[in-house]
Amino acid sequence: MEKSKKTTAAVSNPEVNIVWLKRDLRTQDHVPLKLAEDSALPYIILFLYEPSLIEYPDTSDRHLQFCYHSVKQMNETLTKTNQSVTECHGEAIEIFTYFTSNYSVQNVFSYRESGIKLTWKRDKAIKKILDSKGINWQQSQRDNVLRGIKNRANWDKIWYQTMNQVALTNTYSQKEEMTIDHPFTFPQEFKNILENYPNFFQPAGEKNGWKYLQSFVKDRGRNYNRHISKPTESRLSCGRISPYISWGNLSVKQASQFVVSNPNYRRNKRPFDGMLTRLKWHCHFIQKFEVECEYETDCLNPGYETMGYANKPEFLEAWKNAKTGYPLVDACMRAVIETGWINFRMRAMLVSFLCFNLDNDWRKGVYHLAQQFLDYEPGIHYPQFQMQAGTTGINTVRMYNPIKQSQDNDPEGIFIKKWVPELRDFPDRFIHEPWKATAIDLIDCGITLGEDYPHPIVDLKETAKVARAKIWGHRKTKEVRENKRRIVTLHTRNK
Ligand SMILES: Cc1cc2nc3c(=O)[nH]c(=O)nc-3n(C[C@H](O)[C@H](O)[C@H](O)COP(=O)(O)OP(=O)(O)OC[C@H]3O[C@@H](n4cnc5c(N)ncnc54)[C@H](O)[C@@H]3O)c2cc1C
Repeated sequence: MEKSKKTTAAVSNPEVNIVWLKRDLRTQDHVPLKLAEDSALPYIILFLYEPSLIEYPDTSDRHLQFCYHSVKQMNETLTKTNQSVTECHGEAIEIFTYFTSNYSVQNVFSYRESGIKLTWKRDKAIKKILDSKGINWQQSQRDNVLRGIKNRANWDKIWYQTMNQVALTNTYSQKEEMTIDHPFTFPQEFKNILENYPNFFQPAGEKNGWKYLQSFVKDRGRNYNRHISKPTESRLSCGRISPYISWGNLSVKQASQFVVSNPNYRRNKRPFDGMLTRLKWHCHFIQKFEVECEYETDCLNPGYETMGYANKPEFLEAWKNAKTGYPLVDACMRAVIETGWINFRMRAMLVSFLCFNLDNDWRKGVYHLAQQFLDYEPGIHYPQFQMQAGTTGINTVRMYNPIKQSQDNDPEGIFIKKWVPELRDFPDRFIHEPWKATAIDLIDCGITLGEDYPHPIVDLKETAKVARAKIWGHRKTKEVRENKRRIVTLHTRNK
């Protein structure tokens, strides 16, 4: 049992409300926390580490660590009022059964989760428990992601209306001290993992989210459009707020209002508008997933289920381990493994290379990148991954040529040399295509291809040609065309 405070409140099943935190780890612009504060009852704030989710293949330590340190930061604010987040390690069903048996829970307040099927099913089970006990579960809408819509009529209009509403200022009243006893303590080993958050990832929490946002509008963001596709420069010029938005350290409304209302906005209107457009995309993609969370496992356009792949395991391993022999591909994979972030274009290129050049089904790589992205957000990740893999049937198929990407966006090979140090001394003129170096060049820089750095594992031109014929050919099938109509109506029609 965890004993955190002085007196024991669980003796006679005291009346309480519960706030269930999910991807909303902040203290401001927080509707469920406001609802709890507005009620006369004391409330317990829960954050759960659920073994079934921790073990699921989309999750990695970095995600859990980010949550843990975000909660820590929330507690710095909340403890001033004798309140804190109660962190439990256990399955949601057991935890809610426990709390609803030991407390007289009146309401549960949370945001609505647009997650994977596992969390959707879990939420249904929790609803059953709460309903059976007559407990009201009020789920607030997150970032204008709407539940139960049949098409996108008026979605854009409602999004702008929501984003223009005043962001909530949460206030916290002084609380009576309350002991929250529960058996869901962390195993020591798990606690050690959570504590040891490597400092080469972006620091977690609300305060850090604001720091990144502030430095973007102050200075970094003026080159946003110019640098957005460049793997090195984008690290500075992009917003870099994605983990804070994904785990809810910042709401989309807070971020967009902050950018628009900043004095620098007028001076940097074009680049800042570029970033603001993407904040809308953030919600647009999650809306797709909210409607059909099967996109985690099924082709967005079911017509693509019959398209075959070679699925060679050795190619998949080379991609995952950044040993494909294509320097920019390998540099991107190493950068994202090491830091949790690469820009949009490089993410798209990694997927394109896996699915088109290496002829691997998107499902083979989708969890690997989910684990690496510190900003992993199911609602964006799966629809985006499929868009780049060409399985939506509604978007233009884009094949990214890693040599061209490298020449255009990393012309001097600065990014490549940082992340693929084997090539640090390689002559610049061959950095994008090391296999073209002459024997003398190779002796000169002391590199043996095939030993120090791999030969390219596939022929780029040949594989792209085959993939193009396959994907465009399949696009003409009856199944793909029929499903295309349905998808367009469901996800893209704006009235
Ligand atoms: C295969 C693939 C997987 C992706 N998976 C994720 C993911 O799991 N989580 C995630 O947040 N983004 C994902 N993205 C989108 C995009 O790459 C990241 O949002 C962006 O790189 C984050 O960097 P930033 O904060 O500097 O973004 P900025 O360019 O500064 O944009 C501001 C915010 O807008 C949103 N955004 C930006 N680009 C996109 C986009 N293309 N689609 C939807 N929202 C966008 C993000 O919330 C971002 O923080 C994915 C893209 C691809 C191609």
